[in-house]
Order: sequence, then C-alpha cells, then structure tokens
Amino acid sequence: MDISIVIPLYNEEESLPELAEWIERVMNENKFSFEIILIDDGSSDNSWDVIKTLRSSMGECIRGISFRRNYGKSAALYCGFNAAKGDVVITMDADLQDSPDEIPELYRMIREDGYDLVSGWKKKRYDSKLSKNIPSKFFNGITRCISGIKLHDFNCGLKAYRSKVIKSIEVYGEMHRYIPVLAKQSGFKKIGEKTVQHRARKYGTTKFGMSRFVNGFLDLITITFITKFGKKPMHFFGVIGTVMFLLGGGIAIWLIARKLYCIANGIIFRDVTSQPLFYIALVTIIIGIQLFLTGFLGELISRNSNERNKYFIDSEI
Ligand code: UDP
Ligand code: MG
Repeated sequence: MDISIVIPLYNEEESLPELAEWIERVMNENKFSFEIILIDDGSSDNSWDVIKTLRSSMGECIRGISFRRNYGKSAALYCGFNAAKGDVVITMDADLQDSPDEIPELYRMIREDGYDLVSGWKKKRYDSKLSKNIPSKFFNGITRCISGIKLHDFNCGLKAYRSKVIKSIEVYGEMHRYIPVLAKQSGFKKIGEKTVQHRARKYGTTKFGMSRFVNGFLDLITITFITKFGKKPMHFFGVIGTVMFLLGGGIAIWLIARKLYCIANGIIFRDVTSQPLFYIALVTIIIGIQLFLTGFLGELISRNSNERNKYFIDSEI
C-alpha cells in the first residue's frame, strides 16, 4: 500500500464526511492505493457513528479505532501508527485546517527526494492571533535551538513519514509536539519541511488552550534530558552532586580551619555557627548528597528498564 493517512479526532463529527471525501478524491486522482485510519479519541459527540457510516459507504479504505475515553492526541497517533500499513504515513488533523491537496507532494518528497520525515509549515496561519501565533514562534525558536532541527513549525498536524520512522518511535504523553525530535533521536536525519496551506477551522472548536505552552515547554525539557542522560542518569546527577558536595565540604573545612588557626594564634574570631556561609555550605553538602543518591536511583531504574538495550538496527550483512 502506498499511503496510510492517520487522523486523530476528538469531537469532529461535522468535519469527517467532507474530509474523507476530499482525501478519497485526491487519492483517486493520483492513483494511490491508500487507507484512512480514523482514531476516535473518546469523542462525546457522534463522531464514531459518522466513522461507521463512512466505512459502510466508502468501504475498506476507511479504518476506525475508537477509544473508550479521551486519552489525548499522542495516544491516538500511537495507535494509528501501530495500525498503519502504508509505505508512507501521513498524519493530519480532522478539523479541515490541513488540506489533503498537499498529500501528493509530501508523498513525492518522501519517495523521490529521500526524506525520512517532512513536516508541514503553516507559514500563514488562520488562528486567533495573540493566543497562538506569538507564543508558537517563541516556542518553535527554543525547540530549534535545543534540538538542532531546522523546522519552523514543529507542532503542525500535517506531516509525512517513511513507514520505518513511525515504527521506530514511540509517541506518548503529549510528545506529539516533538515527533521530529523523537525521529532525530532514533537516527533519522533527513528531516524536511514544506509550506502548507492552512485554513480557518470550519466546524467545532480548538481542543488545546494556553496550557499547551506550559506543558509543551516542560515536555521539551524532559525530552532533552531523556535523550542525553536517559540511559546514564548518574552522569548528570553524579557530576552536579559531586561538585556541590565538594564545594560545600570545602567551605565548611575552610571555616573550621580558620577558626582553629585563630585559636592557636590568639586572634579574635567569629563562631563558625554564627556565620551564614556555614549554613549555606551545609545545605550545599546535603543537596549534593541527595543529587548523588538520585543518580544511583536513576541508574537502578534504567538498569531494570526493558528499553535498556533497545536499538534500531538499520542493516546487517
Ligand atoms: N485531538 C485529539 N484528541 C484530543 C485533542 C485533539 O485527537 O484530546 C485532535 C483534534 O480532533 C484534531 C487534532 O487533534 O483533529 C488537532 O486539534 P486542534 O485542531 O484542536 O488543535 P489546533 O489546530 O488548535 O492546534
Ligand atoms: Mg486545528
């Protein structure tokens, strides 16, 4: 099969028929063999009934997965990726903001230009300005710096993947914002970008509020930490812990030594315990030890993880 189109959706009943027809039209015009995988992320409206109707009218090219409750976009993508059978996998939002007309070119970029992943770039956005555009620019800038991937729009719903890519990465939590980062970490280097048309939401409302930026930022920190130190937490905690322990210990010893020196030479001195520096040194020592122990615990956990020897072998002779 040429293309699997994975579409996570939550309460998008009005958009679905239009979207499915449009995709089918584009696929038939280009003579692609395709499947549309609709993942109903626990919708409370009639989305699932609409999917069932589509299945009976359009046939096997429509596949549906229905969650018992709302797990979030990442969970929906994860299940969609597991089910996908196509050589190229396209993800898109169900709200008609992404245009299916972009699919043939995305497909061509993967098959002919050899990209592993092509991300859409909503150069001109049709969302309410303040709450999305400005924070999102800032956010993409930070992600670009930290990950070293030159994309303008990490969170664009419209993306195309070589099937190997989605079978090697695991989207979880709210990591759907960082799939390109996950792909890069799995060793897929050829990541491209294509400007795509973006349209205003026709039906329904957006499912993410301002909280996306706070959560997104925390996820970015997590993902960077895990990539760098996930398999060797001691290298992170151990270094900081040791530095703090030595620093605090050094200061404490110096304070005590100075007191002994003053006593021996009959110089007037300040009590060690009446100096703020002493307390700072104590706290530093304690935090240092705690960080060190955290490192040990981290090592124990990663040693027991069944992911500890998970590698993706590309080829073998
Ligand atoms: N979505 C989902 N589960 C959720 C929230 C959203 O599957 O818990 C889907 C939603 O139906 C849409 C896509 O994710 O197809 C993007 O959501 P939305 O359009 O609300 O995001 P925005 O375009 O505002 O970034
Ligand atoms: Mg949308």
